[in-house]
Amino acid sequence: MSRFLATGLALVASLAVASCAATPVSAPAVVQSSVVETSAARPDLVILVSIDGFSPDYLGKGQTPVMDGLVAGGAFGPMRPSFPSVTFPNHYTLVTGLHPDHHGVVGNRFTDAQLGTFTMASKESGFWDQGEPIWVTAEKAGVRTGTMFWPGSEVEIHGVRPSQWTPFDQGMPGDVRVDRVLSWLDLPAGQRPKLETLYFDIVDTAGHRNGPDAPETRAAVASVDASVGRLVEGLKARGLYDRTMLVVVSDHGMAATSPDRVVWIDDIIDPAALKIGYGGAVLTADPAPGREAEVQAKLVGRHPHMECWNKADVPARLVYGSNPRVAQIVCLVETGWLTATRDRPVTRAGGAHGYDNQAPEMEAVFIAHGPGVVAGRRLTDLDSVDVQPFLARMLGLNAPTGDGRAQDTLPVTTP
Ligand SMILES: [Zn+2]
Repeated sequence: MSRFLATGLALVASLAVASCAATPVSAPAVVQSSVVETSAARPDLVILVSIDGFSPDYLGKGQTPVMDGLVAGGAFGPMRPSFPSVTFPNHYTLVTGLHPDHHGVVGNRFTDAQLGTFTMASKESGFWDQGEPIWVTAEKAGVRTGTMFWPGSEVEIHGVRPSQWTPFDQGMPGDVRVDRVLSWLDLPAGQRPKLETLYFDIVDTAGHRNGPDAPETRAAVASVDASVGRLVEGLKARGLYDRTMLVVVSDHGMAATSPDRVVWIDDIIDPAALKIGYGGAVLTADPAPGREAEVQAKLVGRHPHMECWNKADVPARLVYGSNPRVAQIVCLVETGWLTATRDRPVTRAGGAHGYDNQAPEMEAVFIAHGPGVVAGRRLTDLDSVDVQPFLARMLGLNAPTGDGRAQDTLPVTTP
């Protein structure tokens, strides 16, 4: 159970006691209600903004005046990512409402028996078609979409692409991305997207290189906040801001790492006994041919700062292991530690993610600001699978049911 849900239940319990004893209640009321007032008209436009690797801890510290304003005037919650807390699986979770084990993008790198190895540069649609992203749902319903970068948005999924999309270019400055999104809103009415996505990667990059608390990371946070401000001003200039649902999310947080916190695989097993699919803050691996028994004997089980399971035995709370694409062995690494081999050692401090999706350092962010949003509302147990149902409702779409909850059943505290 997350600490947020625990807090919510404690408050429910206190209210129950209060109603029996008829004593005044000072704690904020916990209600089963929506982020958006049920009577509110739907927004004309939904913009989903992802800031890769953005921790809720980055807010309110002087670098984010624009986003702090959205939080004050909107709904906000720390959001639990899916496991593994890495970029491609979680971005696809946000738009499909499915955990990675269910939407099939089970890692930034994995192997499919028929399709081969998936990397972040793969363009084959087959890797993505176990889920339906919200832009595909929208386009199928005749609602135009525009994606200014989003994992999967460069690929035809279920035979559908966004009306507007752009091949990923990491070198494109944030403000140029914002201006592209705004330019699509200047298209003739029949071509204008009603759902747009926008993606920023520099906070994640700075967090990896320098750690979550570094000045370089704070500078990246400030830069992205200014780009979000440019978006807000562009919407206001077009008279669209008051009719736009702005949803700002991230895919995971960032934990500080150090060369002093390394799980050396060589000390556990000969690395040649493993085909490592993904290593670092989470380890997935298959046994090398003929070395299955050795892997079972030496790797599966508890180690200092790491625990490894066969995929069928991964704890249920991680919702991971039933998909055939998940490697045979899944290792959960203690938050802030890294796996490494002696031939590729960890040499400097930095940041990482991929850890337990319930670790506080992995928390992502969710901000919703727009028509009918109850200002100051706080979500107390938000999961990244809950975002897609919210987007679908805002767009009036009949989207496939996934792992998420309808947004009017999410626990919140009132202002
Ligand atoms: Zn990421």
